[in-house]
Formats: sequence, structure tokens, C-alpha cells
Amino acid sequence: MNYKIKKILLTLISLSFLVANAQDSFLIENVKVFDGNTIIKSTSVKVENGIIVEISKKIKASREAVVIDGKGKTLIPALSNAHVHAWSAETLNEAAKAGVLNVMDMHGVETYQSAMRQLKDSTNYARYYVAGYAATAPDGHGTQFGFPSPTLSKPEEAAKFIEDRVNADVDHIKIIVEPWKATLDSETVAELIKEAHKAEKIAVVHVSRLDDAVDVISNDADGLVHIWWDKELEPTKLQELSESKSFFVIPTLLTTLKVFEGMGASAYKFLKKEQLLAEVKKMYDAGIPILAGTDPPNVGINYGTDLYKELELIFESGIPIMEVLKAGTSNITKAFGLEHTGFIKEGYTADLILVDGDPTKDIKNIGNINTVWKKGKQVKR
Ligand SMILES: [Zn+2]
Repeated sequence: MNYKIKKILLTLISLSFLVANAQDSFLIENVKVFDGNTIIKSTSVKVENGIIVEISKKIKASREAVVIDGKGKTLIPALSNAHVHAWSAETLNEAAKAGVLNVMDMHGVETYQSAMRQLKDSTNYARYYVAGYAATAPDGHGTQFGFPSPTLSKPEEAAKFIEDRVNADVDHIKIIVEPWKATLDSETVAELIKEAHKAEKIAVVHVSRLDDAVDVISNDADGLVHIWWDKELEPTKLQELSESKSFFVIPTLLTTLKVFEGMGASAYKFLKKEQLLAEVKKMYDAGIPILAGTDPPNVGINYGTDLYKELELIFESGIPIMEVLKAGTSNITKAFGLEHTGFIKEGYTADLILVDGDPTKDIKNIGNINTVWKKGKQVKR
């Protein structure tokens, strides 16, 4: 090849490499950071090829770098929603636009889910983690949604049920205990949890009654996808559970309050809003991780911005604001074992939200989103 042409070609190749890089490489300067754990008052965060490579006040911008002034802004890890039912790519797009980049599905049609899961590397969609079909009894809660789903009724069927979910390549196992309809008995739930753990999957459980919550936690459930509605947990029981078991709670306060609203006067027999919030605060005080989830599309809740309302409710319960931010970020990625996301740390994926103002001072500011990056690429909003 002619030397001159070769040189031009090489220049073109390296130029296109630079252009490709520029999209997911940038530096944010003078920014306040909540890193998923703690606050750094003012620093710089350098992203290269979609990865957070350096966090330091001392970073010097190189000449070709895209530099963003973070003054008056706060950088936080992308949000996650620990309880959704997503039915289309659009719902994952709605989440991503609101800065929610990981969503945990808690019951859906396995055959529909694989295409949506393949969007995990697409910038404008939340990553989709699934339970596949939830475990429930024949005619139990979860069978009323108009799609056929497998059911079981005795402990002997648990191993096969979990094997089928594993073959469908699910991320976690969801179990339903809902005694207002036909429901699984305690022995079957215990066996499902045991089989899930054998298959190295976490098992989370839908409950609405305190006694069921205590029972499934005693049987080693990893998490509850709602808080109970019916009565208050005794301090001695809470202490016993928190000391002997390791579990998290996704209280879905917004969902529960909306359900009560819909019930009107007949909700009188359940806990009041203040009592529900107090149950969440009690859990937090006992060292139990609280995770934000909103259960869309139930009761008209959306996949994106409604998560901010859940964070506000968790804050209203009296939990410190940094812990509320963890509930929407790092607590979820830790609980579900998602790697390299949910924190702003060197070596982590650049799943970031730049917020105008300071959500570490006022949780309402979380809605003032300036920019969302997924793996260093800007989400179109
Ligand atoms: Zn749900």
C-alpha cells in the first residue's frame, strides 16, 4: 500500500476510535458525590469507556476530554427499582429516562421476558432482572392477570418448580403468600426457599400479613417484596428475627397507600399510614436493609418518576436521608447481587445521575435530573 494512503487510513481509524471513545468518556469537575455509601463534598469523577476510572479532586482534564462543570450539582449512582412488573421495552425506557437503570421483575411471562432482557446493554433501557413466574397456589394471587402460569400445592412439587425457573434462566425466585385467596402453605414455601438456595438464587416473598412475614423469614426468605398491612410487629419478635436471620424489606409504601385509597372506608381494619411508616423505621433501626420498589403498573404507578415518591415516603418514616438514597441505589444492587453498579467507585460501571441541587439535603431534589448516563452513555430523555 502507498505510504501516504496508509497514513491517511491509520489517521482515520484512530480518529474514529477517538470519536467512539468521546461518547462514553468524560470528566465531571467540582461535583458533590453521594457514592452509594457516603458523601464526598467536592471532587472530580473521570469516566473512560463507560467505566469510572478515577475519583479525585486532583484530576487534571486532558485536552481532548469532555469536561462537565458539576458546581451546584450532585452526582449519585443510578437508581434501581426492587419491585416491578414490566411488560414491554417502553416500560424499561420510561424507567431509564427517570434514572432507574436496574429493575427487578417479580412475576411475568417468561417467554416474553427474554427479548426485554437483551436490552441490558442498550443505553435507553433499564436492565431487566426477572423472577419469571412467581410461585403460587392454584387459583392463588398472581393467577388473576390473564396469562397462564404454573402453580403448585405441596412441598414435593417445589424442586421441579425451581428447576423450571432455573431452566428459564431467572435471576431470583418470587413466592406468593396471600391468604385472601387460595395460598401456598408454610411447608411448601419453606421447601421452595430451600430449593432456591440450593440453586444459588435468592428467594423473595409477597406477604400482606405479619404472621406470614414472620413465618417466611423464619424459613430463611431473603426478602419481603411488601411490608405487612394488618398489625404491628412486637419489638421482642423483631429483635429475635433481626439477630437470627438476614433479610431485606421492600416496603412498597406508595403501592400500599394507593391500594388503601382505592379501598376507601374498608381499609379501616389495616394499619394507618403513620403505622406503616413506623414499621419501616423499626426495620431500619433493627439493621434490616430497606429497598425502594413501587410495583408498577399496579394501581397506576409508573416505571420511572414514581420511584421518587417512594423515596420521599421512606424519608417520611424518619430514616436518615443518606439511608434513603441507599434504599434506591446500593441497597438494591447489593441485595440482588448486581455487579459494578449502584455505587460510584473506581472500576464500577458509569451508571450515573447528575442532579441539579442537592438530594442529600432535600430528597425532593432527586426529581431535578440534569443528565443520566448508562455505562457512560447519555440516556435520551
Ligand atoms: Zn408485584
